[in-house]
Amino acid sequence: MEQTPPFPILRTSVRGKRLVYLDNAATTQKPQEVLDALDLFYRTTNANIHRGIHHLAEKATMAYEHARDVVAQFIGAQTDEIIFTSGTTQGLNQLSRMLGSRLQPGDEIVLTIMEHHSNLLPWLELAREKKATVRYIPLTTEYELDLVTARTLITAKTKIVAFAHVSNTLGTIAPAKELIQLAHTQGAVTVIDAAQSVGHMPVNVNDLDCDFLVFSGHKTCGPTGIGVLYGKKRLLQKMEPSAYGGGMVEEIMIEESAFPKVIETTHEKRTEKRALAKTSWLPPPHRFEAGTPNIAGAIGLATALTFLNERGLKNIEEHGATLRSYALEQLHKNTGVRIVGPQKTAGAIISFTVEGIHPHDLAEILNGEGVAIRAGRHCTIPLLKRLNLTEGTARASFYLYNTTEDIDALVRGITKAQQVFHS
Ligand SMILES: *Cc1c(COP(=O)(O)O)cnc(C)c1O
Repeated sequence: MEQTPPFPILRTSVRGKRLVYLDNAATTQKPQEVLDALDLFYRTTNANIHRGIHHLAEKATMAYEHARDVVAQFIGAQTDEIIFTSGTTQGLNQLSRMLGSRLQPGDEIVLTIMEHHSNLLPWLELAREKKATVRYIPLTTEYELDLVTARTLITAKTKIVAFAHVSNTLGTIAPAKELIQLAHTQGAVTVIDAAQSVGHMPVNVNDLDCDFLVFSGHKTCGPTGIGVLYGKKRLLQKMEPSAYGGGMVEEIMIEESAFPKVIETTHEKRTEKRALAKTSWLPPPHRFEAGTPNIAGAIGLATALTFLNERGLKNIEEHGATLRSYALEQLHKNTGVRIVGPQKTAGAIISFTVEGIHPHDLAEILNGEGVAIRAGRHCTIPLLKRLNLTEGTARASFYLYNTTEDIDALVRGITKAQQVFHS
């Protein structure tokens, strides 16, 4: 997208070759602006937030809350609908605790077969605990979500519908609006795992009408250890926290009788009663952010999102689509390569297998050429089992700094691997 990308790490060389970074679905690289923002925060602003009435504490609080504004605007939310988390995984775990009270035995949670383990395991655990049932929307032979079956799976028993906006393994884009509408018709709440969509295409929570949405900063050019849980205000206001500690409480009342009493006897004997706390929580989002958050991370994330906004999300999406079609076109010329994913519109992700070469071996040979891809099951074991791909796939994933030359390097590397293995 740019001639000289402002991503310092892309100047890395690997075994004397230019680094070709095609592992963006795992994590993305950071522009200089984000590195500078983190550095600047620690050099000029660092203090704990919300607690101090001193210069730095106020400055840090303002910067952190400003970051919340930036995130809210980025996805079309209101500021107090943005909860900072440490990432998608933590956001989904936290949300599954927060939604637990909605479930009765026999209720159903609807997921899809293409979920990342992060959007699978928390719901499986919750279902086990609440004696609820989990159902999975399958894929069509074209690797699209099967909406016809989805209509039969989402029923009055369904309380939660949670799905990946874009599959990290296949690139498949979920028909989000249709699924959300189906869920709402049945009175279920909707959860979008947007780890592969936010920062890669325009995503607007109002437009989608989703109830909850989660994503990770590190997949949108931001730092690791910061993520976002969006929730509709009217829902968050009625929800109980899932973690307790500093920064989330309004008032704590401990009954007089609960204070430790010293009872005088012949030898001193202490009777301690457990403190019975009557507490009230701060309103959202603070109710859901117990403890010191990743302040620098939130600021770094806001810087990353501003960086992406300046380039335009529509442009970033189109660039990804162009690279994906170019890669498909080039890979189709190689008869030993099988694409595992939609031929049509998808996220900037391509999974593939190469006949006679284990994905790990392929990744290793590509590494020798400076090309970084991922090989394996991509935290989607049920999906790969369903597709009968027990060895997993090789996966190339693109972002705004990738070019068609990067794809040429990938294609050359695959040919080289075939020569090594088949000669
Ligand atoms: C990466 C990813 C996750 C997990 O994100 P973390 O940042 O590792 O918590 C969940 N779902 C999808 C679709 C992902 O791509």
